[in-house]
Amino acid sequence: VKFVYDFTEGNKDLKDLLGGKGANLAEMTNLGLPVPPGFTITTEACKTYLDSGEEPAALRDEVSAHLEALEAAMGKKLGQADDPLLVSVRSGAKFSMPGMMDTVLNIGLSDKSVQGLVQQAGDERFAWDSYRRLIQMFGKTVLGVDGELFEDALDKAKEAKKVTVDTELEAADLKKLVTRFKRIVKTEAGRDFPQDPREQMDLAIKAVFDSWNGDRAKLYRRQERIPHDLGTAVNVCSMVFGNLGPDSGTGVAFTRDPASGHQGVYGDYLQNAQGEDVVAGIRNTVPLAELESIDKKSYDQLMQIMETLENHYKDLCDIEFTIERGQLWMLQTRVGKRTAGAAFRIATQLVDQGLIDETEALQRVTGAQLAQLMFPRFDENAKAAQVGRGIAASPGAAVGKAVFDSYTAVKWSRSGEKVILVRRETNPDDLDGMIAAEGILTSRGGKTSHAAVVARGMGKTCVCGAEELEVDTKRRRMTVPGGHVVEEGDVISIDGSSGKVYLGEVPVVPSPVVEYFEGRMHAGADDADELVEAVHRIMAFADRKRRLRVRANADNAEDALRARRFGAQGIGLCRTEHMFLGDRRELVERLILADTDAEREESLKELLPLQKQDFVELFEAMDGLPVTIRLLDPPLHEFLPDITELSVRVALAEARKDPHENELRLLQAVHRLHEQNPMLGLRGVRLGLVIPGLFTMQVRAIAEAAAERRNAKGDPRAEIMIPLVGTVQELEIVREEADQVIAEVQAATGVELKLAIGTMIELPRAALTAGQIAEAAEFFSFGTNDLTQTVWGFSRDDVEASFFTAYLEKGIFGVSPFETIDKDGVGSLVKAAAKAGRETRPDLKLGVCGEHGGDPESVHFFHEVGLDYVSCSPFRIPVARLEAGRAAT
Ligand code: ADP
Ligand code: MG
Ligand code: MG
Repeated sequence: VKFVYDFTEGNKDLKDLLGGKGANLAEMTNLGLPVPPGFTITTEACKTYLDSGEEPAALRDEVSAHLEALEAAMGKKLGQADDPLLVSVRSGAKFSMPGMMDTVLNIGLSDKSVQGLVQQAGDERFAWDSYRRLIQMFGKTVLGVDGELFEDALDKAKEAKKVTVDTELEAADLKKLVTRFKRIVKTEAGRDFPQDPREQMDLAIKAVFDSWNGDRAKLYRRQERIPHDLGTAVNVCSMVFGNLGPDSGTGVAFTRDPASGHQGVYGDYLQNAQGEDVVAGIRNTVPLAELESIDKKSYDQLMQIMETLENHYKDLCDIEFTIERGQLWMLQTRVGKRTAGAAFRIATQLVDQGLIDETEALQRVTGAQLAQLMFPRFDENAKAAQVGRGIAASPGAAVGKAVFDSYTAVKWSRSGEKVILVRRETNPDDLDGMIAAEGILTSRGGKTSHAAVVARGMGKTCVCGAEELEVDTKRRRMTVPGGHVVEEGDVISIDGSSGKVYLGEVPVVPSPVVEYFEGRMHAGADDADELVEAVHRIMAFADRKRRLRVRANADNAEDALRARRFGAQGIGLCRTEHMFLGDRRELVERLILADTDAEREESLKELLPLQKQDFVELFEAMDGLPVTIRLLDPPLHEFLPDITELSVRVALAEARKDPHENELRLLQAVHRLHEQNPMLGLRGVRLGLVIPGLFTMQVRAIAEAAAERRNAKGDPRAEIMIPLVGTVQELEIVREEADQVIAEVQAATGVELKLAIGTMIELPRAALTAGQIAEAAEFFSFGTNDLTQTVWGFSRDDVEASFFTAYLEKGIFGVSPFETIDKDGVGSLVKAAAKAGRETRPDLKLGVCGEHGGDPESVHFFHEVGLDYVSCSPFRIPVARLEAGRAAT
């Protein structure tokens, strides 16, 4: 294998091997842009080293060969005493990663070669400044010396001289500082600062390799779900100097504004500075536009290069450059990060410029970005006191009174208060408080902490790991930087999209993108509308491309209308249990308590018109589009009072010798219906089979509602869905009864009804016998929530709050299988069932109605296995439409 690539040998597609930085340095080199020569050591070399603990034998020789070539090209040797070649050693993994080793600049300087540099540059100050930087960076990042020690020494030197910026230190001061720095290294690292240039380089390379397994790097990878076995590349790049005087400098630039996407001159420039002085904020930078008046030639060249890069990468690029005595050098480029809004804008701008087509535009945005744009946000113009920042764990903007325990959260929210639950970290005991709170704030833990995982599952705003906040749960308070104390009851605001924490109430504004989907905002000229316009166009691209249809999970006319506005092409899941609550609960209780057929029929008769009216409204809202209605699914005890509460009530009544007949019967019923595992008990189709008349009442309500709509010249398209079927016999029995009821309604109303009857596939047995079940089903709807529960043997409500965090941390899964479909397990059942079903019945309609229907990755999977539609909550519909479009490209 080849372990080292010259910059002339690589290209941008070799990121796996050369890392992002190395691949793009090579790409720029080959575009003929001015990149200082150098070479890249591959991630393979790093992996080999990390696996065996030793650098591969061939590596040293290859590095030597490439170094010699570099020296020949530059006409000087690394660290050569009279004219030293200097290099930087830079880490660069496939994904840019904080926590990796920092770059070491000026490698090759020593007590001897610093003199050579003085001669060559004709600038004593510069040479000693470069040397002290080397010892400082090398000491800190390679030898592990505490960086503060160098900073302190530097500060002392400035104080002694009564100056504030380091450029005011003179050669003699810097010379002294070098001595001081060397002494720090000796004391702290227990060794001398290496004077041999090759040893400097080799140690730096090894330090980059080792930093891959540093704690911070590992933590970051876990949080970002970056695999641990990628390894990092190392770039060795000949030095160019931005600190050679006022005609030198260093800067960063974007080819367009990463916030708005607008083209223009965006960036910062710092005269007479090296490397990271720009980001470090040591001195004030000037806007890039000012470079034009400082150095017109370099400025013009930079503008041209930026255009070349945009046209080449066909995307926003960010750039690091250095000017050495009027000569421009490119030190880095990559496709730049951007905000969610900018992603949409840039994609459409690039289409308008003819750089990319619609298909490519769809690849430039994600459903996650769209979802982010759909959350309400804090008003950017509002004055807000930011007091901390944590990890943006679950998006949204939440305002409420700070509470420090779950109990108070529940108590206060019951009395109508909005609360933010503030904890050091959360655990399963906090669940009630998390449900009650508007948002959750923790001072510890990352993206896979309990708080983060559970909040995301609940769609609740969460900021976690805000380390500057000192949370004292015992005293119910937190101290923010600067010492201000937030007491229980003080209002705070948290932004789950940025991780920012504010004191007081920050006003919230609705998302312009939601306003657009709701039809309250249209394309126009001002800033918000530009975003809306871009979203509008990208959605049109997606709708043109996608094969999957998108339906909504909606139970009432209001949700159905909203779903339609969001682009739903029907209802994929209407749950009927919600129709049995409220004032109807009493009727349902009577149904459950009925001792005789007559009693039961009586209560069913009363429910019928109510249920029918529900459907009439729903069909009207979804006129002309399919509406899949699921017959009653949950266990009956969910409609009865809580067992403990009721027991207490009955016991009290008995003590008063005043037992209430009805409550006694209720209690008996509750006991009778009590189940150890309700999830696996009397529910779904089983209810329809053991409670005579229940399902037929529902079917009659659907049929009569459809007939009524037809008579009103409507176009109702009802589909009747039977839940929790495990075997075709169950379905056949229910179906026979349903067909009979439908025939009766047809006869009675004289309206011909075409009602499809199908089933959910949510038990492993149903999936495994899908071929048989399809004989009795006109459609399948995969209930992937229950299917995930039953395939894994997880009770969702129990496991997410108890051990999922541990599972995520141990890497057993990267993401909860309830969030993204488990392709290998649950997914393969879906795939097989779809295939078997279609073999029996080629025109079998296939959909999915679990929450996975709105999850980007899962949507791609459902597209691949050939389903006809996904169904999700109204709010997720745009995300599903977009991802279905992306999946089809
Ligand atoms: P990061 O990944 O943190 O951006 P870099 O490797 O890009 O680290 O280097 C840090 C800083 O040093 C950047 O400002 C970069 O431009 C500068 N730098 C790196 N290599 C050289 C070099 N050979 N000559 C001059 N400056 C360099
Ligand atoms: Mg950089
Ligand atoms: Mg289910």
